[in-house]
Amino acid sequence: MLPEDQTALEVSAAAAPNDRLGRPLRSLRVSVTDRCNLRCNYCMPQEEYVWLPRQELLTFEEIARLVEVFTSLGVTDVRLTGGEPLLRRDLSRLVEMLAANPRIRDLALTTNGVLFAEQAEELHAAGLHRVTLSLDTLRPERFLALTGRDSHAQVLEGIAAARRAGFAKLKIDTVVLRGVNDDELADLIEYGRGINAEVRFIEYMDVGGATEWSLDKVFTRTEILERLGNRYGAIAPVAEISSAPAQRFMLPDGTIFGIIASTTTPFCRTCDRSRLTADGLWYLCLYAPAGIDLRQLLRAGASVSELAARISSTWQGRSDRGAELRAATGHRGVLVGIDQLRQDPHLEMHTRGG
Ligand code: SAM
Repeated sequence: MLPEDQTALEVSAAAAPNDRLGRPLRSLRVSVTDRCNLRCNYCMPQEEYVWLPRQELLTFEEIARLVEVFTSLGVTDVRLTGGEPLLRRDLSRLVEMLAANPRIRDLALTTNGVLFAEQAEELHAAGLHRVTLSLDTLRPERFLALTGRDSHAQVLEGIAAARRAGFAKLKIDTVVLRGVNDDELADLIEYGRGINAEVRFIEYMDVGGATEWSLDKVFTRTEILERLGNRYGAIAPVAEISSAPAQRFMLPDGTIFGIIASTTTPFCRTCDRSRLTADGLWYLCLYAPAGIDLRQLLRAGASVSELAARISSTWQGRSDRGAELRAATGHRGVLVGIDQLRQDPHLEMHTRGG
């Protein structure tokens, strides 16, 4: 890095912005690819998509440079996601570059786990702090029906490998779909307890890509608590102040689990997350119709101060509360139809990073 870049980063560090609702710029999700090796019917139900052109994907150097600017403006939490991030070749090299950034306090990865067993040790050695693995079912035949792929055993191996590699604070994310896996909540809690991982149940969201979404398929936070309460007895909320998406709860025996209730109980008021797509568009909200093209700025030779100024002023103008506005919609249905998604792949959840 040039000395003037270093100075510019130090200057912008003094000017961490808040948005119009007083929310800090703290958490950045970086999608490293729009491709995925599963076809979960709540996320990527089609076989083929309009993929981002490869030459438009940010290089690792470009990602690290942008992340430097973001962290100089207050970002402390960086999560690598996708698509399926483990499909990006040499991901551990990017992890190593980001792990060298001292402003990142939490460097995490969200993965479906299919390829994790073969990369767990390398990623841990490269400096990855934490991993969240998505697992919607413990039943292989159900996994096949839900994802279109016969890779359930690989996911379980991936989770075991995460433990062996030494990742602490493992999290398992489960999207709960009515009539599909809502009968497995307690089994998943037991599984999580057995491997010392915190399970988080996610309400089915009507994000772009969820072209089969309907409100009646959403198994709500209230229903999740009721189902688990019937099985385990009184459930207590964990008292904590946090901007994390999951609300945490405790079973009578002390087991902690989380619920991400973005559909019925949005948490926009504390949302400090923004998202960078694999091709360098920056989205201020998962539901935002458009993003800011940072790749273009970067490739046009923008300096660190210019990038910082653009990011800072954009964040100061942010007033997004996408999930709350969706929840207030009277007749709620699919957010974006398949024809519109084909015209703009950036509307897909798998492009902007879950
Ligand atoms: N491929 C990685 C994975 O599976 O974890 C990372 C990307 S994926 C989009 C991130 C998370 O978003 C996964 O836990 C996935 O289950 C969740 N997700 C995808 N579509 C969703 C939807 N419609 N509602 C709620 N969660 C969803």
